[in-house]
Amino acid sequence: MSEEKRLKIAIQKSGRLADMSLQLLEKCGIFLEKSRDQLLCRAQNFPLDIFLVRDDDIPAFLSTDVCQLGILGQNALLEKQALGNGKFNGLKQLLPLGYGKCRLSIAVPHDFTYDSITSLKGKVIATSYKGLLSQYLAKQNIKADIVTMEGAVEVAPRTHLADVICDLVSTGNTLTSNGLAEKDVILHSQAVLATNQIMDLEIKLLADKITSRIKAVLRAENSRYIMLNSPTDSLEAIKAVLPGSQSPTVMPLQGRDDMVAVHAVCEEGVFWDTMEELKANGAKSILVVPIEKMLD
Ligand code: ATP
Ligand code: ZN
Repeated sequence: MSEEKRLKIAIQKSGRLADMSLQLLEKCGIFLEKSRDQLLCRAQNFPLDIFLVRDDDIPAFLSTDVCQLGILGQNALLEKQALGNGKFNGLKQLLPLGYGKCRLSIAVPHDFTYDSITSLKGKVIATSYKGLLSQYLAKQNIKADIVTMEGAVEVAPRTHLADVICDLVSTGNTLTSNGLAEKDVILHSQAVLATNQIMDLEIKLLADKITSRIKAVLRAENSRYIMLNSPTDSLEAIKAVLPGSQSPTVMPLQGRDDMVAVHAVCEEGVFWDTMEELKANGAKSILVVPIEKMLD
């Protein structure tokens, strides 16, 4: 009997993407057999093995086909591709995942005069993203010196290792507490599902299945089920206010000619101002509930 083929996915072992990535797989109905301390976890109920690794290593896991799927920051994938040895050209992004949002930005000390990117001419820039930074500078025709650092890039100006830095920023708190100000964004990034060129058809089918489950989870997370009662004569106005819903279900209310029940899936956030607008149009008993699963 031939051994069952298993799809392999690489996710970050620990760090900013680790918990969300594991939770995402769990939401796709994947249950893990082993503890997170190991490199490899087997899914109990799906032919899937999960490799828990450093985010920077995920492109190599994909390019060598040790794994066929990976979850990593776009920044990490694009940086390996930007370094330009061709090894990572075959990797592609399948889906943005909506978490791990950050920017790769130029930040400068407060006493550094920054008017535009040309202020960087001839300066020393510290970064862990030499590939992306070099590409950006080349496009703008700016010549500068790049010092590559693995971590703690934000201390480089204070220790006179560099004039300015190019680093990942999310809240900006790290920059502020190091006396730096963000000036230019080189890349907007978030976690993505990435893949290599899957040749094996069985593995490809498994990868497609996981991808469509992830899509469904993300869609459900962004969607709300909304229920309300609407005066019959303001139904059109109320339908127009429902955010991102195509065809709501309209049902009679027993014993009422002047009101109908409206149910709709809204694929956008339903915020207080929307609810208030619905109410202003005569809607009553407005209920907004989360959706757990959604598959067309
Ligand atoms: P590893 O041990 O896996 O190499 P790391 O220290 O390189 O971990 P983290 O700091 O956990 O990585 O960041 C992982 C990813 O999280 C980044 O590549 C980026 O896509 C995203 N991220 C989101 N916000 C930030 C931020 N403020 N700083 C750094 N990374 C961020
Ligand atoms: Zn890393």
